[in-house]
Amino acid sequence: MKVLAILYNGFNAAVKEPRLLGTVENKINGLHHEDTSSLHRKVSSDKEGPNSDFEKHIVDAEVLITTPFHPGYLTRELIEKAKNLKLCVTAGVGSDHVDLNAAVDHKIQVLEVTGSNVVSVAEHVVMNILTLVRNFIPAHEMIERGDWQVSDVARNAFDLEGKVIGTIGAGRIGYRVLERLVPFDCKEHLYYDYAKLPVEREQAVKARKVDDIEDFVSQCDVVTVNAPLHEGTRGLINEKLLSKFKPGAWLVNTARGAICDADAVAAALKSGQLRGYAGDVWNVQPAPKDHPWRTMKNPLGGGNGMTPHYSGTTLDAQARYAAGTKAILENYFEGREQEPADIIVGVGAWATKSYGQR
Ligand code: NAD
Repeated sequence: MKVLAILYNGFNAAVKEPRLLGTVENKINGLHHEDTSSLHRKVSSDKEGPNSDFEKHIVDAEVLITTPFHPGYLTRELIEKAKNLKLCVTAGVGSDHVDLNAAVDHKIQVLEVTGSNVVSVAEHVVMNILTLVRNFIPAHEMIERGDWQVSDVARNAFDLEGKVIGTIGAGRIGYRVLERLVPFDCKEHLYYDYAKLPVEREQAVKARKVDDIEDFVSQCDVVTVNAPLHEGTRGLINEKLLSKFKPGAWLVNTARGAICDADAVAAALKSGQLRGYAGDVWNVQPAPKDHPWRTMKNPLGGGNGMTPHYSGTTLDAQARYAAGTKAILENYFEGREQEPADIIVGVGAWATKSYGQR
């Protein structure tokens, strides 16, 4: 049996920090099994193109382990070549880098470590919202440059209190974002999701459901995206929808880059239609050096809160998703049932309701 893991290189950082478990060097706990005559493992970061380790080893692997942070894109074409593949494990949350419809068709199970990093991401979302609304990054950069001109940064700084916040997706992360925002005394918490929250859960976070996406964005000062990437969310935030946002709104996306049209977001920021955009997810990862989101700015020269994809891979999160990956592998090797919440695609069928209404 071959287990293939596509992870990111940690280099010196991973040697010095063994808690960087999601790296090639530290190999996620679950891969610390010794190789035996029946178990071969291949761990690599090399994932692009026909000569990559990913494409060479997927053809006879039975188990594939990937992370959303350095995604090995398992396309339908690759799935068709992967004749032995039975199980894909996402060490983290978000399995859109696997063609999930093709996995259903080919009876390949897809599991993720549900819940493992949802607090990590929710905290990052709150940080991103505050960073944008308070115009923090230009203020900090001014200090590093040796300047001191309060008016230049205060002219685009606001309080979160009294603003309308809306989440696209009110699942584990979206709900936790609203929970964390309750003490900020925002004017309203809105959510857009086909899954309605129970009334007592709505009341606990002061949330109101809005059913029409254009109506929803037109009411929000801050929109945060917390839905998975699937056919119903790919390119959802495009030029047309951005034109329906409140002029000068802030947009935070830590869900998946491809939910937003990259050029449309950059143009909306440049024109001032968006006052700020922040997040850590990109439509291609690693993002090319000339990706517009690296350097885009609003008319006042700020409003960009982008980072590499790391909100869900804090050291605390890595401990949780490594332990979860190990548990999924052990269940698989020992023929035990998996945790139902971890199953995205079961054998030949969708198991989750989170990837769109089907
Ligand atoms: P979840 O399954 O608990 O919640 C997702 C919610 O989105 C569900 O309530 C679902 O009904 C809703 N949804 C799905 N399609 C929608 C649509 N078209 N419109 C509105 N709502 C829709 O998932 P979660 O744990 O909250 O994670 C959400 C996503 O966040 C993941 O799928 C992943 O892409 C992303 N994520 C990112 C990081 C990171 O490091 N940046 C880490 C973890 C998760």
